[in-house]
Amino acid sequence: MTKSQDRPSYLARLVTDERRARQISDRLAESLDPAACAAFAGPDGRWKVEVYFTGRPAAEDLRALTASADGKAEAFVVEKVAPRDWVKQSLAGLQPIAAGRYVVHGAHDRTRVPRNRIGIEIEAATAFGTGHHGTTRGCLLALDWLARRRHPRHVLDLGTGSGVLAIAAAKRLRVPVLATDIDIHAVRAARNNARNNGVGPLITSVRAAGLHAPQVIARAPFDLVLANILLGPLQRLAAPLARSLMPNARVVLSCVLATQEDAALSAYRAQGLVLERRIPLDEWVTLVMAAASRPR
Ligand code: SAH
Repeated sequence: MTKSQDRPSYLARLVTDERRARQISDRLAESLDPAACAAFAGPDGRWKVEVYFTGRPAAEDLRALTASADGKAEAFVVEKVAPRDWVKQSLAGLQPIAAGRYVVHGAHDRTRVPRNRIGIEIEAATAFGTGHHGTTRGCLLALDWLARRRHPRHVLDLGTGSGVLAIAAAKRLRVPVLATDIDIHAVRAARNNARNNGVGPLITSVRAAGLHAPQVIARAPFDLVLANILLGPLQRLAAPLARSLMPNARVVLSCVLATQEDAALSAYRAQGLVLERRIPLDEWVTLVMAAASRPR
């Protein structure tokens, strides 16, 4: 979505929810011919749309575009910016993030990953998962901790977003990883990011909701499932997920607010899993759950 030879000089920004951010950036790219546009989760977890134009965009065009998404008009904030490379600009606020042995970084920091760390290069533009959100960091810490104790061989990253966790698992464990998402943009982003990180052949990225898709069934059972999705889906997925596990498997659950921890725990305990470790970060908590060592 970039034409880097252009030198955009107006930046329009909007903070909104994830679904609208994606819809609006898709429509923008199609209709207003921006120099570049990106929808991404900021360090605070809120979604932003950033669009660069070479000339001042008409406020009315921008408003009309937000309204065409679902009738709700929102105003972009437009500012004049010095000509620059939009990729550097939009990732400028995204410093490399360290989590255990992992460092998640943009392309501009590729050469700054210390030798004893595992770099995960993510371009933030299209999917959740830059490492800046507490839940992603919690999952990376959980994976780092698990990888020192176990060697899972059948890994599922459920709700892969940018592919960050699948890449982390593939780089560390050197085993095939199935990465799934309901969102086709995320599936594509994960595939591209996997390739850019040299683990394309290990990661299969597919569009699938939950665990019923044929590609998921074909690869089950799993001995490690990474699931950084909201409490609601995590609760609904507890039973089918438990049925997709090998004995002694581990499940890493995230995107759980500290206040939702009991609800998440009880959904998985009801399926026979036990809590092995909890990693609180910011207002979030990541849970490592263990399946029984024998089938129930
Ligand atoms: N794994 C990444 C991204 C987490 S965001 C990380 O840890 O940073 C959660 C992702 O789950 C989103 O991309 C969303 O589209 C996806 N998702 C939500 N519900 C899902 C479901 N039922 N099945 C598969 N993916 C789902």
